Amino acid sequence: MLVVQKFGGTSVGDLDRIQNVANRVAKTKDEGNDVVVVVSAMSGETNKLVEYAEHFSKNPARAEMDMLLSSGERVTASLLSIALQEMGYDSVAMTGRKAGIRTNKLHTKARIEDINPDTMQSYIKEGKIIVVAGFQGVNENGDVTTLGRGGSDLSAVAIAGALKADLCEIYTDVTGIYTTDPRIEPKAKKLERISYDEMLELASLGAKVLQNRSVEMAKKLNVNLVTRSSFSDEEGTLITKEENIMEEPLVSGIALDRNQARISLAGVKDRPGIASEIFNKLAVAEVNVDMIIQNKAVDDTTNIDFTVPVSDLNDAKAVVDTFIENGEIKSDSYNDDICKVSVVGIGMKSHAGVAATAFSTMAQNNININMISTSEIKVSMVIDEKYAELAVRSLHDAYELEK
Ligand code: ADP
Ligand code: ASP
Ligand code: MG
Repeated sequence: MLVVQKFGGTSVGDLDRIQNVANRVAKTKDEGNDVVVVVSAMSGETNKLVEYAEHFSKNPARAEMDMLLSSGERVTASLLSIALQEMGYDSVAMTGRKAGIRTNKLHTKARIEDINPDTMQSYIKEGKIIVVAGFQGVNENGDVTTLGRGGSDLSAVAIAGALKADLCEIYTDVTGIYTTDPRIEPKAKKLERISYDEMLELASLGAKVLQNRSVEMAKKLNVNLVTRSSFSDEEGTLITKEENIMEEPLVSGIALDRNQARISLAGVKDRPGIASEIFNKLAVAEVNVDMIIQNKAVDDTTNIDFTVPVSDLNDAKAVVDTFIENGEIKSDSYNDDICKVSVVGIGMKSHAGVAATAFSTMAQNNININMISTSEIKVSMVIDEKYAELAVRSLHDAYELEK
């Protein structure tokens, strides 16, 4: 079998843990498999590098950020390969570039355009264990790029797809995918299987256990994806096609996203085309707009509120400023003390009343809902951040997910 194993930050968090990972990789190799390993930076390392940059600048150049941030993964890849070699294994550490990962130019959230697997394949043929630095690629100018926070998951899935691996294992600090973040709700239940679509929804709505683009790619390339713990041998969760799931529960999980900010625009000129201009410019600036609310116009002006990830706030402000300067928007304000809680489930497609339960659960707990959005398989609510955990636990209770 060809197995891709990805180890997240906590799993390589110190030197003993890197040794632990080396032992696990060695065991997989001893069992007769070809192994390609993808590693994250040691836990906390990427955040530390971001803070170093912010010491000098509030808005550091993205290309320099990528040079900086990609270094964390190179440290772990090299150390793991050194540990494996010391154990007598033939291994080789490589950067994203050497692994053939080519991305677009969008620094700090680049998209993978293609992977040339030739180098990896020739090493595999020689029987080598490959250790790839996750989270990074190279653009057409030869500059190093990174794939967005949590992006080592994407590296692993994309490599598994390019190499047509039999299995892609994501090793992390929990034993699988749970009905909600087990650190918030200890009663959360581990799922044996979950469909790509539900996992994609959970990940996109804040469940950081898998990066959302990695799930999207796993679905597209039909990668056999398993999430499990690097600290135990417990079986993990299989992320798979909907048809492989026996029973579809009404609700499969609750997601929480604390990294959302609300932007309120007041005195927006009420004329045809204004919304399209604002949101087009935001899209060009790669700002990820989620929920949007526009109020009824009074005296030819209206108010528009929308949410964006906190990390896109600076870019969004820059766009809004251009409209304030030309007088099309009177003023703006920002609130990042909000969060988004979401209820996700494929079974919702055919059942009414799921959203109503979510709203009444908030009401019973005296939590005010600021914004709502729904789709076929989710209900999302923006609430004050201070109610985040209460909301998650009471929704988990309301849908009886512990059963
Ligand atoms: P890694 O460093 O291995 O990539 P992450 O910190 O990115 O790990 O993701 C693992 C974390 O995701 C867990 O520690 C857990 O707190 C969180 N998490 C959020 N939602 C879920 C969920 N539904 N199931 C499991 N873990 C979840
Ligand atoms: N080290 C990067 C991050 O912290 C990528 C990853 O861990 O997946 O976001
Ligand atoms: Mg992660």
